[in-house]
Amino acid sequence: MAQSLDKQLAAAKQRNITFSQLVLETEEKETGVPAEEIKKKLAARLLVMRQARREGREKPLFSRSGLVAGGAYAYANCGKRIVGGLFSEVVATALAVAEENACMGKIVAAPTAGSCGILPAVLLPVAEAYALTDADLVQGLACAAGVGLVIESLATLSGAEGGCQAECGAASAMAAGALVELRGGEVQQIGHAVAFALKNVLGLVCDPVEGLVEIPCIKRNVLGAVNALSAAEMALAGLRSALSADEVIKTMGQVGKALPESLRETSRGGLALAYRKLKRQ
Ligand code: SF4
Repeated sequence: MAQSLDKQLAAAKQRNITFSQLVLETEEKETGVPAEEIKKKLAARLLVMRQARREGREKPLFSRSGLVAGGAYAYANCGKRIVGGLFSEVVATALAVAEENACMGKIVAAPTAGSCGILPAVLLPVAEAYALTDADLVQGLACAAGVGLVIESLATLSGAEGGCQAECGAASAMAAGALVELRGGEVQQIGHAVAFALKNVLGLVCDPVEGLVEIPCIKRNVLGAVNALSAAEMALAGLRSALSADEVIKTMGQVGKALPESLRETSRGGLALAYRKLKRQ
């Protein structure tokens, strides 16, 4: 079933259950681990996400390379906002968790360490804004995991294989799908949100400066989180993707294969190359 999100969503709709319920049921069947145990594990991941957010916000973080220098703290404590509110909280959380990762703190790779800020950045602030419980968030994580499993199966979750679209793009799609379920969307709208989120970052390359998950990775977590919010809102409003989630996911995999090796985590192209040239001057 992890081979098709379209089919899973159709099955959930037919049985009148949520996508997260279907994901938990399937996982229980395939692994033999009871759904309640899986939920406990997800709840434990939620605590790690919260802790990473706190660590990244409460004090300025500095990475060994010097490329991270208190950006998340500066953003969280800056009074100048354009949008503010939930949006700024999402940005602040994405920065905080991604910086915590760059500074060797504990994070949840969701689906990868490089993209670890995206799911917490949307789930935690949205939960606060809409009084969602931890049980709701566990449901959101199950939904996101279901989307991630399909992306892994039909394409890839690896920047080395498919570029950043496969890491931050996948995390963004997972978050968008979770948001739709958590905000009471129809099960099919999850597929549209996933498709929107992934389409918007198709072709995004992986070009980490100095081979470190710092530049451009941290800000790409912000991009992925904000993209997830807009993708979920469009789906909730009834906008429909002309291409199904499965089709977009498969296309992402093909685009990833077509990317030159220099733009797939080798740090030989893109911003990594530009930075090397800059340092030589
Ligand atoms: S640029 Fe590469 S290393 Fe950085 S988050 Fe994206 S996929 Fe991961």
